Amino acid sequence: MKPSKRLGKVPPYLFAEIDRKKSAAIARGVDIINMGIGDPDLPTPPHIVEALKKAVDDPKTHNYPSYQGELDYRSAVAEWYQKRFNVTLDPQKEVLALIGSKEGIAHVFTAFVDPGDYVLVPDPGYPVYHMGTILAGGEPYSVPVSEKTNYFPDFGVIPLDVVRRSKILFLNYPNNPTGAVVGLKEMEAAVEFCRTHDLLLCWDAAYTENAYDGYKVHSILEIKDAKDVAIEFHSLSKTYNMTGWRVGMACGSATAVQALGTIKTNVDSGIFKAIQRAAIVALTAPQDCIAQSNKIYVERRNVLVEGLNSLGWKLTAPKATFYMWAPVPENFTSASFCAHLLDSCGIVAVPGNGYGAQGKGYFRMAITLPVERIHAAIGRMQAKDIRFQ
Ligand SMILES: *Cc1c(COP(=O)(O)O)cnc(C)c1O
Repeated sequence: MKPSKRLGKVPPYLFAEIDRKKSAAIARGVDIINMGIGDPDLPTPPHIVEALKKAVDDPKTHNYPSYQGELDYRSAVAEWYQKRFNVTLDPQKEVLALIGSKEGIAHVFTAFVDPGDYVLVPDPGYPVYHMGTILAGGEPYSVPVSEKTNYFPDFGVIPLDVVRRSKILFLNYPNNPTGAVVGLKEMEAAVEFCRTHDLLLCWDAAYTENAYDGYKVHSILEIKDAKDVAIEFHSLSKTYNMTGWRVGMACGSATAVQALGTIKTNVDSGIFKAIQRAAIVALTAPQDCIAQSNKIYVERRNVLVEGLNSLGWKLTAPKATFYMWAPVPENFTSASFCAHLLDSCGIVAVPGNGYGAQGKGYFRMAITLPVERIHAAIGRMQAKDIRFQ
């Protein structure tokens, strides 16, 4: 039995070594401080959990749901986009329910990419863009982004023959892993680039609500006529601490929504109706729970940034996301620094090159753990004299 050639193209899992070291440390009884994963540690707000409990008791939720998502779920998404971004969506044609946004992101390539087609993916970036392209038989083309340009691509460096053979540009702001945000000017440039070159703009918006210090994140669909070229992937995961529930949405271009919907119709059979009912409550109830979570994240972020800066880093606090993206000290690689943090301090951080070659020389720490643990992590680094330069 031989797995497919495309499966053979999936690169080795870059976090395997760190996972192995982590398991070994746990087995030795080390008190691990896990700053590796960006999975909210805060619980789903109680009014959403209650809505699910009630919905489960109703036998009407027990059969197959609609493929596209129940119309009242899609309408709740449209209503949320209207209120939050002042973006008007037709729930019938411009909104699709997803089993978490990762599911939609992974499937969109099958809907638009033929063998040999390129997909423009940011490097560093969320690994699913790259893998999803490979699994669809396409060719990921890494578009380098760096601190110098605030992690927004310079479209001019992409060779024209690559652009001509490309079908999709994937972008993600607020950004995982760098924490970068962009303004309307960059968003307009992305829409314009995709319009000029007939590309589908896939905009990953998982972190629009995890924003701090009064910073308001925009949706790509706010840009004039963006719906002609763009599909935005969003999710309840990071907004309402619902990563395990698997519920998200794709919104925008009716053509893209329909194409992705056709793939999904043949692959899955929708989201448990009880979860959709709870998701409607999440989207339509008062949104104070978001501000409450963000207050907690801000405190954690400040402790982490100030702590690392007291050890010689010169970081500015990210305006959004759960992530602190920072350079490794001299004479370390991403991998050797993360191994050192784990071996000497019991701290799990993620090597930046796991997000692409350009992430080389960086590491990522997530703030999805109690503030006392972040204090403890900084204390351990100080005790071992781990400093920047
Ligand atoms: C967490 C995350 C997602 C996907 O989350 P889902 O739980 O699948 O909705 C998508 N993109 C980025 C960049 C993420 O960090």
